[in-house]
Amino acid sequence: MTNYPYSQYGTNPNGGRNANAENGWGPYKWPGGVPIEMLGIAVFGDVRLQVRRELVELVMVLLKITETKYNYNLYGPNEKPPAGWCWGYSNRPIAGTTTASNHSKGRAVDLNAPNNPYTSPLVCDIAPAIVNTWERAGFYWGGRYSGKKDAMHFEYCWTPADVKRHLAYAYGELGGISLPPKQEDWLEMVSESQWNALVQQVSEIQLRLRGADTKPGERHEFVDMLQTIDADSNEAKYRLRGADTGPGQKHEHFDMLQGIDSQTAG
Ligand SMILES: [Zn+2]
Repeated sequence: MTNYPYSQYGTNPNGGRNANAENGWGPYKWPGGVPIEMLGIAVFGDVRLQVRRELVELVMVLLKITETKYNYNLYGPNEKPPAGWCWGYSNRPIAGTTTASNHSKGRAVDLNAPNNPYTSPLVCDIAPAIVNTWERAGFYWGGRYSGKKDAMHFEYCWTPADVKRHLAYAYGELGGISLPPKQEDWLEMVSESQWNALVQQVSEIQLRLRGADTKPGERHEFVDMLQTIDADSNEAKYRLRGADTGPGQKHEHFDMLQGIDSQTAG
């Protein structure tokens, strides 16, 4: 295992940013945590990191860059030997304190924890080019802490409005490497309450379509909308059926499906 000296990591592109400030993300943190519908799952292989929904795509692109561009293996739970060394949302304080961790805000991830421990001096096998990519994409690196170094740890230290430009930067770094289709893990990225909200929207639009198709020129636009909604809805139903494989999942998913059918019927 390569252990890089701190001097190779250069200057901090997020110097002066306060990663522990609210930074426009709202008051969600330990002990209350983040409401489930505000969280999504960034997926790469068998690595699954739960973060604020606004950060899901950015984290997915960064995981892809980390593994595919820089050949740094992120240890998911299906590695041999079983690892599961990468972590995201966790509603807890900073170890040994009563201060909310950025993990409890859904804005922090840990990469290959055992190889990049919380210790001093720095122990880190994540190459400087990888760390710098995460930093330039808006994540404050724990390896730069003044006390104990947290080499595994990256926390987003900008506002929700900054995610867009960081995502553009990350896609630029990704170059021609393609991501898996975004809908691959659609089901896991949508909570039941979000799903219910979508169903409600569909019902309202269907209702309005029946009453609203009266003005000239509106018909085509509404029909297009309806076709898009139907396609999304079919995709979701297909995934609900496909996901019905784990013990105890059948009842829940079929109940959801029945609810969807009854609300969209008629
Ligand atoms: Zn961490």
